[in-house]
Amino acid sequence: MTKPTISLLEKHWHHLSSNEVAELLDSDLVHGLNDDEVRRRRESFGANLLTPKAGKSAWLRFLLQFHQPLIYILLAAASITAFLQEWVDSGVIFGVVLINAVIGFIQESRAEDAIAALARMAASATIALRDGIKQPLPAAELVPGDIVLLAPGDKVPADLRLFHARELMTDESALTGESLPVQKHTAHIEKDAVLADRTNMAYAGTLVTRGHGAGIVVATGDITETGRISRLIAHATDLSTPLTRKMKHFSAVMMVAILGLAAFTFVVGTWRGEPPVDMLMAAVALAVGAIPEGLPAAITITLAIGVSRMARRRAIIRKLPAVETLGGATVICSDKTGTLTENQMTVQEIHAGGEIFRVSGSGYAATGEISYNGERVETRGVLRECLLAGVLCNDAALVERDGRREVAGDPTEGALLVAAEKGGLALGEMHADYPRRDELPFDSRYQYMATLHEVRDGGQVIYVKGALEKILERAVAMLNAEGSEVALDPAKIETHAHAMASRGLRVLALAKGVAEEGQALKHSHLDRLVFIGLQGMIDPPRPEAIAAVKACHNAGIAVKMITGDHAVTAAAIAVHLGLRSQEGDPPLTGRQIAALSDDELRSAVLKTTVFARVEPEQKLRLVEALQAGGQIVAMTGDGVNDAPALKQADIGIAMGLSGTEVAKEAADMLLTDDNFASIEAAVEEGRGVFDNLIKFITWTLPTNFGEGLVILTAIVFGATLPITPLQILWINMTTAGVLGLMLAFEPIDKNIMQRPPRHPAAPILTTELMWRILLVSLMLLGGAYGLFLWELETGESLEQARTVAVNVFVMGELFYLFNCRSMTHSPFHVGFFSNPLLWFGVIGMIALQLFFTYASVMNHLFASAPIGLDDWVRIVAVGLIIYFVIEAEKAWRRRG
Ligand code: ADP
Ligand code: MG
Repeated sequence: MTKPTISLLEKHWHHLSSNEVAELLDSDLVHGLNDDEVRRRRESFGANLLTPKAGKSAWLRFLLQFHQPLIYILLAAASITAFLQEWVDSGVIFGVVLINAVIGFIQESRAEDAIAALARMAASATIALRDGIKQPLPAAELVPGDIVLLAPGDKVPADLRLFHARELMTDESALTGESLPVQKHTAHIEKDAVLADRTNMAYAGTLVTRGHGAGIVVATGDITETGRISRLIAHATDLSTPLTRKMKHFSAVMMVAILGLAAFTFVVGTWRGEPPVDMLMAAVALAVGAIPEGLPAAITITLAIGVSRMARRRAIIRKLPAVETLGGATVICSDKTGTLTENQMTVQEIHAGGEIFRVSGSGYAATGEISYNGERVETRGVLRECLLAGVLCNDAALVERDGRREVAGDPTEGALLVAAEKGGLALGEMHADYPRRDELPFDSRYQYMATLHEVRDGGQVIYVKGALEKILERAVAMLNAEGSEVALDPAKIETHAHAMASRGLRVLALAKGVAEEGQALKHSHLDRLVFIGLQGMIDPPRPEAIAAVKACHNAGIAVKMITGDHAVTAAAIAVHLGLRSQEGDPPLTGRQIAALSDDELRSAVLKTTVFARVEPEQKLRLVEALQAGGQIVAMTGDGVNDAPALKQADIGIAMGLSGTEVAKEAADMLLTDDNFASIEAAVEEGRGVFDNLIKFITWTLPTNFGEGLVILTAIVFGATLPITPLQILWINMTTAGVLGLMLAFEPIDKNIMQRPPRHPAAPILTTELMWRILLVSLMLLGGAYGLFLWELETGESLEQARTVAVNVFVMGELFYLFNCRSMTHSPFHVGFFSNPLLWFGVIGMIALQLFFTYASVMNHLFASAPIGLDDWVRIVAVGLIIYFVIEAEKAWRRRG
């Protein structure tokens, strides 16, 4: 049978009925497409992906590498030397600028690619109906004609003509600019309706803010409405972070200082009667010496290494600044269920008809039984009703995977299915006996779910499950042990629920109601419920979360639990996790938070560790209150309503496994295992990144200061330059690339999580470190100038004296590199061989210097000259002195 070719040129999908659309697209609203057909269509329509639009062109990005204040100085220096016809100098400076630009360009592209690759790992997923089965798939695999199901928090994966919409609202601001969510319908619409008015369509890239729906894919990839609007696609990865912005500012200040000093050098020298040409060369030497050429590349590389280290520890960075900010976090607000706990629910207790039943077994295996006073009981009366309600008012399914039972859907609901099986109910039979006619899906805002069922022998029944408060509000009666209606006794029920919750059980209340024939289910129908019972389930804390909480506390980071669960349950779990003591501050509930003013909340939020029955919208207020108190806040979230809080938080963290697309999009970081312990690991890595950056900066600046000082001293004393501009460039380029870069690979300090968080507004370099930089600069000046003069005194050539000065700088930096592996600790704490790359750097650097000193091509290019063994002894001595002086200074500071 040949299939009719389907045309996607039809633009008026909204004007057709959904059946007409299905017919045109040769699909089936009930079963979807079959696998063969999907394969065929993928071949003709391609993957559901947008062709990436080139951001800035490669050329432009390359040229932008030159658009930096310090590079301007180098370019000026190159032009001046060219003007003086110092062709070699000019050529080398130009060469350095070029190499710099190439390195910067490559590093930037790599960092961008890495982040883009991580973004692909977090590619969006969707639920489609194929061969009559609901299945999760990557959004990229959709083809026209596929049937897609939408739930709150989903990103619409393709353009859809809706044929089912239940309270469905989407946020189309990305497409139409309309900031309010749009209510969706299924009825067909005027042909000439504009995009924003086509409310029976859901467009790719828009977000489901509430409700449920189903639609048929009418356009994929570039032919979607989003694909047509190019401005949506070109989002370049932003590589700037608070630190790189600070460095930009620092560079600008430095440029002025360097230009000032260079001008000063020129003026003083000329005034003293030196030839202006020599003084121009001196000014050039000063300028190129004082510029830390390697710094920008080192920062990007260190950050990029941090990103990949975090990815290995299950934290995917979506926005680069988070790498830095993480290290400064002072508060982590974490969801309870699934992040601090395992989200492996097992019903342990059932309270119904005034009796308490125990349920044995653990996990999702059906092994276990229901007992009363230690005796196995028969499942009848109210117990049976309670289990039945749990089975019917349920969207989860138990599936077998690799010989293990797992829950497809919400673990809370999975636990109810397992409990019913232990009670001997056959799930399939129950579903067949009570076919579902309608539903009100669970929403954490109203904390219950309801379903409407047809009853075999006539009539309809509603089952409801949810938070006890919400059920009691609406209940008018309850079932007794035999299963007949009696007067409601809320106090007794609450006492039982409280007892379960204080043992850390998550308590779900179940109820039933009557429904009028032929009506759809509405919230207002749930006003005369009959309470059936309670099921209490355990959700054990993750063992690794307990350790991670402890580590955070040691690191001066407060951990707060935020949950929709009951205050008593949450408080009990918090005690298990070591978050609070038994008699610690009471939890704050959502209702209490709502009653507090912003000021009151600001002080309450600092003292409280557990926030219970919190509505997702309230998370935003919590973040703002914490930030108003000067805290750096990391906040987790998974649902659509968490997005504003994730955006507001300094580090928004979305759940990679269970999170919605909306939450992922708003977040700075994703956890691939949804585990709290991964947040702690990321903080540790974040602190490590910052440490390594500070190490590099502290290490590199003395070279630049020292070189600047050498030139200044030479001018002030009216003597020959001990190092030429070319030689300075050689030192800066080789030491930064061969030695300094190895600091980016330093392992994390063992004590890093024993320190308080670093405040992001704190200056990068402390006063102590500035003194250290000055001290090293002065020692380099003394060593280089001193040995330079010594050589000239003892009758060696100027070339040899300069070669010695250059080697003093390089050796000084080489020894000082070992000091910089820890700002405070001794090398014994760090371990001499904990970073093998460092030794490669050292060997490479020594080889380069021997080449520089003895190779005739280098002697020719850089005006260097071979030196004797006794010179090397003196050079190494200077290096050793620097090393021991700085170790002594560190030891002195450790004591003080
Ligand atoms: P959290 O994710 O922080 O544990 P939830 O918002 O999932 O909080 O749950 C809040 C409350 O809503 C729970 O204590 C429970 O009473 C109720 N609840 C949770 N899941 C369901 C569900 N699938 N159906 C009905 N009620 C639920
Ligand atoms: Mg939940």
